[in-house]
Amino acid sequence: MLDQYKRNINYMRISVTELCNLRCRYCMPVEGICKKEHKEMLSEDELVQAVEAAVSLGITKLRITGGEPLVKRNILSICRRIAAVNGIREVCMTTNGILLPALAVPLREAGVTRLNISLDTLDRKKYAYITRGGALDDAWAGIEAALSAGYQKVKLNAVLIGGFNDEEIAALAELTKQYPLDVRFIEMMPMYNSGDFDETAFLPCEKVLEVLPELAAVEPDGGVAQLYQLPGAMGRVGLIRPVNAHFCGSCNRIRLTADGKIKPCLHSAEEYNIKGLDFTGMRSVMEQAIQRKPEWHGEMSFKKRSHAGRNMNQIGG
Ligand code: SAM
Ligand code: SF4
Repeated sequence: MLDQYKRNINYMRISVTELCNLRCRYCMPVEGICKKEHKEMLSEDELVQAVEAAVSLGITKLRITGGEPLVKRNILSICRRIAAVNGIREVCMTTNGILLPALAVPLREAGVTRLNISLDTLDRKKYAYITRGGALDDAWAGIEAALSAGYQKVKLNAVLIGGFNDEEIAALAELTKQYPLDVRFIEMMPMYNSGDFDETAFLPCEKVLEVLPELAAVEPDGGVAQLYQLPGAMGRVGLIRPVNAHFCGSCNRIRLTADGKIKPCLHSAEEYNIKGLDFTGMRSVMEQAIQRKPEWHGEMSFKKRSHAGRNMNQIGG
């Protein structure tokens, strides 16, 4: 369906849980979150119905995210059911990878075809620091499990953080030479809880091009990343610049939160409830949300924080 700015909205990101087995400093508060009551969250049946309603409005692609989607007890059943909805062409997932050693194969069998795995550093101590206690070896085992499970595409997402991983840009990009995967650098978005970071931590993606002048631009693939390749690499290097070169003009997505709110824009506080509604109710709320999707996310910088009104783990990134 086209929104009022003639953008074709065909992609829905679904956060299936706010809970997570890590506590990344740019995403979640140290104490985690106050667990909401089960009845406040979308049930599996409601989620499938929401996908059916979204498909009737032109959604064809889904991304499952969170929190950490793999801590959700019924994640395989959710994936299997939404992948089977008539009209869904692609189901992808964004995960921290920690639980992939056990789940990479069953997830692919359930219909997930592409995985994005978050990895900000190749240093064990730094990984434990940024995730507040996670083990790099567990995430790496997850990446290896994904690579051998036969996914169409595996991408690594690294949030670019000045003073933390800017010295590792080359090493992270080099992974595209060693493995058949893409590495994407994402500008850190100033959510209202990212108080651990000062202004110098918010680096523009140009930094990657400065460090790696040998990166050659390659054809875009229709996604939000500007794509490049290192000489002789198997995979591509992507730059995702939500802060310094926002891509709102071609934004094709809406978001569904685990507590049943449609967010037409990641950085706007506007939310539309679909929890407790039947198919027709959900469809009509989604239609309204798409029509009212804001033109852009407004100015955003270290000083002008996102208006999202939620932490990233409560939206899905
Ligand atoms: N737990 C999963 C993971 O980490 O991949 C999925 C949810 S996480 C919220 C989705 C993505 O959002 C991750 O790639 C994470 O790095 C990114 N993210 C979280 N907070 C961010 C921020 N403040 N700025 C930029 N990216 C952020
Ligand atoms: Fe959890 Fe992902 Fe947020 Fe890290 S980025 S705290 S892994 S939801």
